[in-house]
Amino acid sequence: MRAFVYSSQPSRVVFRAGALDDLAAEIERLGAHRALVLSTPEQRACAEDVSRRLGTRSAGVYAKAVMHVPIETAEAAREAAKSLNADCCVAIGGGSTIGLGKAIALTSDLPILAIPTTFAGSEMTPIYGITEKGRKTTGRDARVLPKTVIYDPLLTKTLPAKIAGPSGMNAIAHCVEALYAQDANPITSLMADEGIRALASSLPVVVSEPLDLDARAEALYGAWLAGACLGNVGMAIHHKLCHTLGGSYNLPHAETHTIILPHAVRYNRGAAPVAMGRISRALDGVEAAAGLYDLAQKLGAPLALRDIGMRAELLDEAARLATQNPYYNPRPIEYASIRQLLQNAWEGIRPG
Ligand code: NAD
Repeated sequence: MRAFVYSSQPSRVVFRAGALDDLAAEIERLGAHRALVLSTPEQRACAEDVSRRLGTRSAGVYAKAVMHVPIETAEAAREAAKSLNADCCVAIGGGSTIGLGKAIALTSDLPILAIPTTFAGSEMTPIYGITEKGRKTTGRDARVLPKTVIYDPLLTKTLPAKIAGPSGMNAIAHCVEALYAQDANPITSLMADEGIRALASSLPVVVSEPLDLDARAEALYGAWLAGACLGNVGMAIHHKLCHTLGGSYNLPHAETHTIILPHAVRYNRGAAPVAMGRISRALDGVEAAAGLYDLAQKLGAPLALRDIGMRAELLDEAARLATQNPYYNPRPIEYASIRQLLQNAWEGIRPG
């Protein structure tokens, strides 16, 4: 008999091509009057456009977001929000920018309106991460969940194929692990099935036909579902490995997810047969681990840890770090098998 707990995350989602036009109305709906607009330095022009659209409701632009939210960046942004008298943050960009908004919200309670422009999914989660002295600490706090999310597929048009492919694989990883999560539930699993289907069918078009807006909208829809999965249930070995590799060796986030995912799925294959069947169905019937590897290859994404800067002599240590603290995974975690998984991922072997 079924038994489960499901908690929905209280956020408002506005999804359509051109939805950025609703920004001022959505800020008003939040009851905010002075929005601080956040972005990376690379997306400053986008943030300035948003600030112009807000007119007198803009408190200014803070375009200094960087990957993994260093504590110094978080503190400087908190100071800027305070000195500009901001009463809300608009975060336009990927997980790095939304992560900076979360760091501000964590100590100030300022509401976040997120406008995601990658497929990472941070906008749908109450999870934050801050890096101090080279160590990233993550936590959950209801205050950091964006109150409103505007998904506008037009904003992903500038996302180049080499960022879009891995970013989409990162989103698929949230769906995959939701299917065998300890607290998996029927609603999240439906979102996960549909998220994998939407992403796997659209991403090849996103990278090969950059002007195909329907494909970009479908991928963004999948990314929304994937973010909701990540926000609703716990993750397992795949996310633990990526967190260890990204945090300890500064490997690029989305690319690390892309490379590890087929191997993590292969690792769990015998222990989570129902999830494997669902992943396979969402991939149009191909075996889950090999299907994910083939999809990454089709996207032109990196397939081997050695190609993104991981040194072979660090694999022993990485396996030790990833197996140190016990955590939930459908198949028990043990050093020798995880070391082999990392070896296969380092070499970029297609999981058999
Ligand atoms: P990112 O935010 O670092 O963006 C990568 C680069 O792409 C940046 O230079 C950015 O400015 C640029 N970019 C983004 N959208 C663009 C667009 N439409 N056109 C052109 N350039 C664009 O990358 P990411 O993968 O989205 O986020 C990674 C970070 O997010 C990591 O630190 C990860 O830990 C975090 N994250 C957190 C959560 C969570 O729930 N807390 C979830 C997923 C990811």
